[in-house]
Amino acid sequence: ARRNVLITGCSSGIGLALAVKMAKDEQKRFKVYATMRNLAKKEPLEEAAGRRLGKTLEIKQLDVCDEQSIKTCVNSIPDRRIDVLGKYRMFSNAGMGLIGPIECQTIDEMKTVMDTNFFGLVRLLKEILPDMKRRKSGHIVIISSVMGIQGKDVLFVPSGILFNDVYAASKFAVEGFCESLAIQALKFKLQLSLIEPGPVVTEFERKVFEDGMKMDLSAADEETAEMFTNIYLKNYKQIFQSLGQSAEDVAEHTVKIILAENPPFRHQTNTLYTPMTTLKYADPNGDLPIDIFYKMVFHHDKIFSASLNFIKLLRWRSRKSFDLGKPSQ
Ligand code: NAD
Repeated sequence: ARRNVLITGCSSGIGLALAVKMAKDEQKRFKVYATMRNLAKKEPLEEAAGRRLGKTLEIKQLDVCDEQSIKTCVNSIPDRRIDVLGKYRMFSNAGMGLIGPIECQTIDEMKTVMDTNFFGLVRLLKEILPDMKRRKSGHIVIISSVMGIQGKDVLFVPSGILFNDVYAASKFAVEGFCESLAIQALKFKLQLSLIEPGPVVTEFERKVFEDGMKMDLSAADEETAEMFTNIYLKNYKQIFQSLGQSAEDVAEHTVKIILAENPPFRHQTNTLYTPMTTLKYADPNGDLPIDIFYKMVFHHDKIFSASLNFIKLLRWRSRKSFDLGKPSQ
């Protein structure tokens, strides 16, 4: 049977790549409802979808911050039937990229990030979950995000992130929400998966960087402003150049998760930072990852260059073995 897949944020980046990849599936296993907040931006998606447009892919309007637009979109889908909900947490494209010292950010800017990244997901689920529960069928796939930084070299970790305080908080909110919901979902035979990419080379990268460069740092003390400019921003580009995945790569991982017979609750698309995750669980006091990230950022310890190389090796190895078993059909 064909799966109806609803994806949000499809005007660019990962959302666009995933929508196109699924619409072009050779076995025609998906009907994609590719949604975006502003339909005036649909041209790149239309172009990429080509002759699949109107067949395996339909474009619809949906703003995750607007309950009515979600309702209208879901009501327009035959029988409101959605088997897979791919939800993209928004970052910088819509002005969501909030990096920098919190002293220099307004509460309203922070609320917008939470409203999009966290409440956007809650709004979607409020609309779609009751249908999925009734049918006892559905898979909710959520794109989360992970990032961390080290002086010269850079690592991405699913943990707190220097100068990404509010963004990280919005991600933690999503993760806590999903961990709780997953228990109930199991009772209704629903599946929930969090996709956790590292850096992905999209418009997002350029916009976040530009916003950071333009930031008014006058409310911050000299040391903080200098840390943001000379450690964080200076390394930012390098992160994406050396470690960035393509949107297509993340889309490929996501499709495998969607097709897996027993999809995992969490899937990291860039195994480079997987060993860092273990730090979090290795110390119940929680000091270990904080201490290590501190040293990585401020002391550029040689030991961390060595561990970076080790992690790169692990990444290379696990890339070779990226296999989620046989697909469910
Ligand atoms: P992107 O900026 O190209 O995509 C984000 C999309 O969300 C845009 O199309 C934007 O228009 C849309 N959007 C913003 N607010 C919206 C709203 N209220 N309603 C509907 N759509 C809205 O960047 P991307 O890299 O493709 O990001 C996709 C997701 O992946 C983001 O949520 C981001 O947090 C996550 N992510 C990105 C990276 C990265 O390095 N690029 C890394 C990890 C996670």
